[in-house]
Amino acid sequence: MKKNYSIKVSLKNNPYEVLVGKNVLRKYKNKIFSTIKDAKKIFIITDTTIKKLHLKKIQQIIPKKFFIKTLTISPGEKMKDIKTINKISDFLLKNKISRNDAIFALGGGVIGDISGFLASITLRGINLIQFPTTLLAQVDSSIGGKTGVNSSYGKNLIGSFYQPKLVVCDTIFLTTLPRRELIAGYAEIIKYGIIYDKNFFIWLNKNTKKLLNNSALETIKAIKRSVEIKKEFILKDEKDVKNFRALLNFGHTFAHSLENCAKYSKNLLHGEAVSIGMCMASKLSNNLGFLSLNNYLKIKNTLSDFSLPINIEFLKKIRIQKKQIVKNMVYDKKNLSGKINFVLCKDIGKVFVYNKVKKDSIRKSIS
Ligand code: ADP
Ligand code: ZN
Repeated sequence: MKKNYSIKVSLKNNPYEVLVGKNVLRKYKNKIFSTIKDAKKIFIITDTTIKKLHLKKIQQIIPKKFFIKTLTISPGEKMKDIKTINKISDFLLKNKISRNDAIFALGGGVIGDISGFLASITLRGINLIQFPTTLLAQVDSSIGGKTGVNSSYGKNLIGSFYQPKLVVCDTIFLTTLPRRELIAGYAEIIKYGIIYDKNFFIWLNKNTKKLLNNSALETIKAIKRSVEIKKEFILKDEKDVKNFRALLNFGHTFAHSLENCAKYSKNLLHGEAVSIGMCMASKLSNNLGFLSLNNYLKIKNTLSDFSLPINIEFLKKIRIQKKQIVKNMVYDKKNLSGKINFVLCKDIGKVFVYNKVKKDSIRKSIS
């Protein structure tokens, strides 16, 4: 097994690489700065937790000739709004940012989404490099160019598509990640196996223990394969208009509703909601006759082996009602046509979009 990987996301207008491995930050220092040749200033956006743990690692690799400013926000989804965007863009402009300069996003999904959106709108586009520090951000949100913030009408409703110049997935960041956050990241990784690659799903099953014990080479391989799979969907449907990128949302129609019920609190992490959501989507697929019982159970057991939640028992504390779960789904932003789009599974590695699900079937798949 190799130690480092470079995955090329060869989009016609914005090709970029994703570096995956341990210490890639240091090893590929030259490559990182060659993607922002004309920059004079670097603006690092991070949160207070990550600043304490990892900011130094970035500062150490930045050549002396750069003017560096670090912007730190409080951690958490609450910060992901237009007010934060306003504040930071004022700061960038006050410090005379130019279009050749660069924004470094150092953090999880929240920092990545905020920084990406800022980079896309400030002066109509600033260079962006993503340094994702959570497993979830490394395998999902930092790749693909979806950026944005939340509105009072819902999550991620204000945003843009904006590709970074480079994504640096360094596994040294993951050593400080709370176990619960690490496990949540595996929900999206298992998702890639279910939607695209049966062999990867089988490999994840075989290596569960090693992965949960942070075994270096296996972790790197899991991230690398996830990035490769996400890349396939992005290349076929960069702007999410061909019902192809939508397949990445397996389990997410349910998950978004559950997260809404939990008021986006720490009681339910996104990965945990996706895990429960994938169990429900698999049960629905089985109930409608698309997926065998055996495969449904395989999916559920795999998630459970990774210590992920597989039903709403997990949410007892929040007292979520089935009725509310169904009701929320109608308001999911992907369903503006009135029909609920479900990604269903017919075999491990094979999913499809289906919009003829009746409310009663949805109810029966919630447990
Ligand atoms: P994601 O959406 O990628 O799961 P968030 O941006 O919501 O992540 O971050 C989750 C939490 O984890 C935040 O409180 C953040 O400060 C913290 N965090 C991010 N990266 C690390 C890390 N490498 N070590 C410890 N905590 C981290
Ligand atoms: Zn997700």
